[in-house]
Amino acid sequence: MEIQEVVSKQKAFFKTQQTKNIRFRKMYLEKLRDVILQNENLLYEAIYKDFGKSKFDTFTTEISFILNDIKYYLKNLKSLSKPKKVRTNLVNQIGKSRIHSEPLGNILVIGAWNYPYQLSLSPIVVALAAGNSCILKPSEIAENTMKAMVKIINENFPPEYLFAYEGGIDETTELLKLKFDKIFFTGSTKVGNIVYKAAAENLTPVVLELGGKSPAIITKDANLEVAAKRIIWGKFLNAGQTCVAPDYLLVEESVQEQFLEMLRKNIQQFKYEPESEHYTKIINKKNFERLIKLVNHEKIYVGGEYDEEKLYIEPTILTNINWKDDVMQEEIFGPILPVISFTNFNLILNEIIELEKPLAAYLFTNNAEEKESFTNKLSFGGGCINDVMMHLGNENLPFGGVGNSGIGNYHGKFGFETFSHQKAVLQRATWGEPDIKYPPYSEKKLGWIKKFM
Ligand code: NAD
Repeated sequence: MEIQEVVSKQKAFFKTQQTKNIRFRKMYLEKLRDVILQNENLLYEAIYKDFGKSKFDTFTTEISFILNDIKYYLKNLKSLSKPKKVRTNLVNQIGKSRIHSEPLGNILVIGAWNYPYQLSLSPIVVALAAGNSCILKPSEIAENTMKAMVKIINENFPPEYLFAYEGGIDETTELLKLKFDKIFFTGSTKVGNIVYKAAAENLTPVVLELGGKSPAIITKDANLEVAAKRIIWGKFLNAGQTCVAPDYLLVEESVQEQFLEMLRKNIQQFKYEPESEHYTKIINKKNFERLIKLVNHEKIYVGGEYDEEKLYIEPTILTNINWKDDVMQEEIFGPILPVISFTNFNLILNEIIELEKPLAAYLFTNNAEEKESFTNKLSFGGGCINDVMMHLGNENLPFGGVGNSGIGNYHGKFGFETFSHQKAVLQRATWGEPDIKYPPYSEKKLGWIKKFM
């Protein structure tokens, strides 16, 4: 079936109103859960072929997220979709005011390759939960996971409701010419720009989940042992190919030496070796070559080895880094961790305030003033104090960027709102109608209106 035909069928199907039924939505969420569980091994094998991601990491950072999302919406769907009563103001008395969460219609989800299942299927789960029909375009860069998702979705769901479309840039460009009720894009800021422009042609609203350089600040008042362990885990998970990974570190000079030694110790303990099941490969040759060019050999503190054949890059820490180094000019998106040292917390905070707003930011400290300055002065999508990346795992927090790191958000109730229209309905009683607002007007009527409004 041609993609234009699928889109037309989805639009027609949405108009039948079937997706508005809560039981219908729940039935398909349960079906998606069952399809994922039945095909778990296929999903693990595909991602391993694409970039050597282990079963452990795939479950903890992808499959479990999707299953938890399904569980959350199955549990909360009724309350999320219930019309919300709000106060009716004096002018509108006698009346009742309600906000109805109505599905938007037909959604396009464009996924990224780095967490291919989570970033494709989590938006699909909430878009379906909110009562929409959906087309998923997974990333072609992780080819096997794309094929696996296309297979399990298209074999188990009616295309007029949910369809996965296999394709690369050409196919996505064609898809973007069509009109959708919302486009949910995860990927780079560069492609986000292309998607935003294409969407504007059809006046289609967008969510853009983009990237950026996310800093982690470590001050002398931090618990250094804990900070080192959490940072090494967060940075080298998925070999640094994580949108919310700490991109670079800002370490207070007085504790730098001690802290770097702790970082080195953790890298050794986590055993990130070429054949290790705990360590992921770089997705492709293009990214591999881009990454090794970012390593300035004179600044290597630890690591620096690589194996082109295996697409392996050793966890690498670079020191004596300044803002002008190549590694500080773009999002790294790989296992290279530059360290900049600082002596004054407020000055370094001011320096990062001047940069593009990052998707995430992290602060390690037990100093209350530093925590407050970080939270109140620095703008970022979301982040943690004394941890990295774990904010994503709390469904009560919205996930999304700000400025160059994105537009809009999702997760939990925020995702439900993202894929719904908040329709305002005022219901008036038909008795007790004063004729004060109707012509012919008079000074007396105006006097009364001034009192009311
Ligand atoms: P990408 O922008 O290259 O690709 C994302 C999607 O866009 C893919 O499905 C791809 O097919 C499509 N695409 C690529 N070029 C296109 C074009 N010219 N026209 C139309 N469509 C096109 O991103 P990526 O390499 O898959 O992911 C890496 C980036 O994504 C990083 O910047 C990372 O920070 C960001 N990211 C953000 C999040 C988030 O949740 N905010 C999550 C993961 C990754």
